[in-house]
Amino acid sequence: DAPVASNFIRNVIDEDNRNRKWAGRVETRFPPEPNGYLHVGHAKSICLNFGVARDYDGVCHLRFDDTNPEKESMEYADSIIEAVTWLGYSWEKSGQSHLYFASDYYEQLYHFAEILIERGKAYVDSQSADEMRANRGSLTEPGRPSPYRDRTPAENLDLFRRMRAGEFAEGEHVLRAKIDMASPNFNMRDPVIYRIRFAHHYRTGDTWCVYPMYDYAHCISDAIEGITHSLCTLEFEDHRPLYDWVLDQLAQAGHFKRPLPQQIEFARLNVTYAITSKRKLLQLVTEKHVEGWDDPRMPTIVGLRRRGFTPGSIQLFCDRIGVSKADSWIDMGVLEQSLRDDLDAVAPRAIAVLDPLKLIIDNFPDDAEEACTAPVHPHHPERGSRAFPLTRELWIEREDFNEHPPKGYFRLFPGNKVRLRYGFVVECTGFDKDEHGKVTAVHCNYFADSKSGTEGSNNYKVKGNIHWVSAKHAYAAEVRVYDRLFNEPQPDAGGRDFLTALNPNSKRVAQAYLEPGAAQMNAEDRVQFERHGYFVADRYDSQPGKPVFNRIVSLKDSWGR
Ligand code: ATP
Ligand code: MG
Ligand code: MG
Repeated sequence: DAPVASNFIRNVIDEDNRNRKWAGRVETRFPPEPNGYLHVGHAKSICLNFGVARDYDGVCHLRFDDTNPEKESMEYADSIIEAVTWLGYSWEKSGQSHLYFASDYYEQLYHFAEILIERGKAYVDSQSADEMRANRGSLTEPGRPSPYRDRTPAENLDLFRRMRAGEFAEGEHVLRAKIDMASPNFNMRDPVIYRIRFAHHYRTGDTWCVYPMYDYAHCISDAIEGITHSLCTLEFEDHRPLYDWVLDQLAQAGHFKRPLPQQIEFARLNVTYAITSKRKLLQLVTEKHVEGWDDPRMPTIVGLRRRGFTPGSIQLFCDRIGVSKADSWIDMGVLEQSLRDDLDAVAPRAIAVLDPLKLIIDNFPDDAEEACTAPVHPHHPERGSRAFPLTRELWIEREDFNEHPPKGYFRLFPGNKVRLRYGFVVECTGFDKDEHGKVTAVHCNYFADSKSGTEGSNNYKVKGNIHWVSAKHAYAAEVRVYDRLFNEPQPDAGGRDFLTALNPNSKRVAQAYLEPGAAQMNAEDRVQFERHGYFVADRYDSQPGKPVFNRIVSLKDSWGR
């Protein structure tokens, strides 16, 4: 295995290990909220968290950060479990599962809130949301203390218990941490840590009507689980003082032992021609701009999977982009190249004609069949060969014939010779047209001594080398040729409505002809169709004998040219 590139996060862990800060223990967590399907941005966080745990002989927890009752569901949680597993990661170590739900900590979180209240570190505020906002202050002005800020612990405890008991309406009271209304960091100006919500939670049902805020629940969940390094994206940098404050208060109260988990921030992943916001992805689905969360054009993990991306290609991509402290856009081409690099050495080769045009070899006997062979993989002779017959009538690619060849065109035109891959050299003799002027068939003659792999073939020097399938033996198949979902590298840049950047030609369905062997592929098998690119037998619609293919990527990056 190639050595893993170091990064500033691994440097922190190395340093901690040198100092024996955690006695060599490394525990990370991936904390998705089950409110949508994971996307390629989450893949970066998954590869980072699980990758670090793997390389340091630690463990990465899968924790559902499910403290917003309204938008969460078990369907989403299940899809996340499936996606992480598919990417090749596990939250098990030494036979123990580390799958957790923040909602399992509700009782503990509530208990800790009472402790903060008792210690004078939290209070019930009864201002309206508008009043709270107005009293928040500004960059130049400190916030104004709430008139309720000096309630006694006994008063606060009573109110908080009655909040829990359902005696108040939503918005009537909140619980706030009592920190510093003059802090230059807004997150420290007495942040709300509990609010009233009469909402049904997908796991706890109607048990609760007070729910903890993210900043309060997250750090405590980390401490409960014994997380050592809590890796998150840069937008949480300003929240770190609050993360540390909450844990420090509870450590002072004797509830957590030091050292306390350390939050470390890294840059989010943005990929050009893609959207990585769950809200906008949901909009694409609900407004039917795509066919679902797993539409092969979606940058969701299920979409990438259905498109044909391999777990290995996504891991390779995450290794290549690395981890940094500065936000940036990564070119979609880097993801596509990772797929090519992952598949080139392993994908079997086959022939598919995507835009078929008939080629008739007029001097080839009517019922004759010439057996042709090609390697399953050009660099792995041990994988054997494929066999397919050449007959008088073939399908070739429409673009491999040109009635008016431009300069430098070496394929079929009257008078020119090309090689039919793995077969004979043929010379174009003419073509047929229908009443609209469309070419319906191309005619040629073949040279019987020119077969590939025979001595005589050396006597023919031709520049064109085209692929074909025997019309009599070919398998008809649906091939979905996908392109990028957006025409703009940054679809939602500068406040633009990202829907205006949709590429109207992102999906094209072709009726293709395949070499006979390719018809027997299983769903999710991948193949390189020679000259075209990498394809996958669709996860849901393809069956052996009745294949349906998705184009994953073309052989070369030709986008934008
Ligand atoms: P949204 O705000 O759209 O709901 P989210 O980022 O809040 O998305 P979470 O489910 O909270 O989604 O994310 C789980 C983890 O994945 C978090 O730790 C988050 O930092 C990380 N993550 C999310 N998006 C990206 C991204 N684009 N690049 C890297 N990490 C990401
Ligand atoms: Mg979120
Ligand atoms: Mg989040």
